[in-house]
Amino acid sequence: MRIGPRPLRLALGAGHHNARGGTPFEADLNGRVCRAIVDLARLSDGFEIQSYTPEDGLGIHPGVVDVGPREVAMTWDPDWPVDIFHEIHAQAFPSRPSERGVFLIHPDGVGLASDYPNPGEVDEDVVEHAATMARIISGTTGLPVGGPGETGVVSERQTLVGLEGRRLRIFAATATPGMVAHSCRFITEVGTHTNAVDRAIMSQPGFARMEAIGVIRAYASLAVTQLDWNYAYRIAVETEQCTSAIDR
Ligand SMILES: [Zn+2]
Repeated sequence: MRIGPRPLRLALGAGHHNARGGTPFEADLNGRVCRAIVDLARLSDGFEIQSYTPEDGLGIHPGVVDVGPREVAMTWDPDWPVDIFHEIHAQAFPSRPSERGVFLIHPDGVGLASDYPNPGEVDEDVVEHAATMARIISGTTGLPVGGPGETGVVSERQTLVGLEGRRLRIFAATATPGMVAHSCRFITEVGTHTNAVDRAIMSQPGFARMEAIGVIRAYASLAVTQLDWNYAYRIAVETEQCTSAIDR
């Protein structure tokens, strides 16, 4: 796929900001990270961004988990083809409190049960670039790269839902022919809040902004490397005075 010299189109959502909800620590953080990404993208040059969770991420969508993503696929994408679809999460792993880190989950729907037509797609662009994106987000947050073997990459099939034979609902809802053809789709799990060290990092006042810087750098890296994006983008933080922690 070739994007060329135009701004990237980003459809973003905060995990658990829907009728099903989630743990308060994660849901609160996801919303603040979503708002921080939207704000930074709008201050920057080269990113068109919309959040499918209300109030640019801080609000609660009245539908269940897949309703907002389905709106993206059926209502936004036909008029505003989405380059990157991303939902923000943080991991909980109470049975393994030593588990830490940052990873991405990519679509891999072959043979999984789905409420929507399932083309069984694998997002190869995300598969190829997920480890790099996890390293970029690790670099701005101070969290380690996580996931199986600390690779930073998890297939939909390796998640608890996938192991039970079902698709993740947000990937199922966005597996339309159009989005499968032209969108990169992924979930980020940034930090494991059941680990004390990660949770302390994730509780720092500037954490949402640090994650936002990493995520936008990761979008740009994915688009340049995998999608032939050659717009002369500028991320706002990189033209401001930055602390050494976020400037590395
Ligand atoms: Zn979550």
